[in-house]
Amino acid sequence: MIDSERLGLPEFHPGSVWLVGAGPGDPGLLSLLALHALARADTVVYDALVDPRILGLARPGAVLDYAGKRGGKPSPRQPDISARLIRLAQSGKRVLRLKGGDPFVFGRGGEEGLALAAAGVPFRIVPGITAGIGGLAYAGIPLTHRSANSAVTFVTGHNSSGALPDGLDWNALARGSPVLVLYMALKHLPHITARLIAAGRAADEPAAIVSKATTAAQRVLVSLLGEIADAAAAAKIEPPAIIVVGEIVRLRAALDWHDREYPGGLRPEPLD
Ligand code: SAH
Repeated sequence: MIDSERLGLPEFHPGSVWLVGAGPGDPGLLSLLALHALARADTVVYDALVDPRILGLARPGAVLDYAGKRGGKPSPRQPDISARLIRLAQSGKRVLRLKGGDPFVFGRGGEEGLALAAAGVPFRIVPGITAGIGGLAYAGIPLTHRSANSAVTFVTGHNSSGALPDGLDWNALARGSPVLVLYMALKHLPHITARLIAAGRAADEPAAIVSKATTAAQRVLVSLLGEIADAAAAAKIEPPAIIVVGEIVRLRAALDWHDREYPGGLRPEPLD
C-alpha cells in the first residue's frame, strides 16, 4: 500500500466526487492518485472499458456500481449518471467515478464535471493515460518523432448517436495533421479512410489499428490507409480500438517491444 501522507496525496472527503481516469487497461498504468482513491471510495461508479483487475483494487466493502450497458439494454443516459453521482455525494459518500483512459478525452468527464459544479458538489479530476497515447506506446508507435511529425490530432469517429460526427472538416484534417489518432472509428473505418483519401491523403500511407491495447488480448494490425478497413474486417479486429494514420507507424518495425515480449499478438506484414 502506498504511503499517501508521505506523498502528500489529498484527502478523499466524504460528500465529494473524484472523476478518475483508469488508463487503457493494464493496471500498472494507474496513477497513484487513482490507487489512493480506490482504496478509500465508498462507491465506485465505473464504465464498461474499466479493466476488472482495476476494480479488484477497490477497498473491500466498496459498492461497485456499473454505469454501462447491461444485458443488451441501452446505456443509462448521461444525465442519469450525473444525477446518480450527485445523489451519492449528497448522501455523504466518497464517490469514485472511474472511466477508461482519461476522463477528459472523449469520455464525457466534462459533462459530469459541469453537472457536479452546477449542483455545488465538490469534485477533483484525476487524469489517466488515454488510449491514443498509452495504446500506441504498447504497440511501439511513438506519437511524435522528430523526423516524422510535429503535430498530432485526436479525432472521434462517433457522435453520441453512433454516426460519423458531422462537425468534422475531413479536408482540413487530411491536409493539416501529419498524424491522426482516431477513437471510436472501427465501425465507420471504410467511410473514414475513403474520406481521407478523397481529401488528398495517400492510399499507401502507413496506418495501424491497436485493439484492446495494454490488455492481454492486445492485437495490432499494420497496413496502408487504402487497405486497412478491409484488412481489419478480414482479421476480425474487435473494439475497443485506436486507429493511427501517419509515417510514425513505420517505427513499430523497430520499436515493437510488446509483441516481442508477449508473442502471439497478430503479426503484421512488415512495412519497408
Ligand atoms: N476516455 C477514453 C476514451 C473513451 S472513448 C480514453 O481517454 O482513452 C472509447 C474509445 O477509446 C474506444 O472506442 C477506443 O477507440 C478507445 N479505447 C479505449 N480503451 C482502449 C483500449 N484498451 N484499446 C484500444 N482502444 C481503446
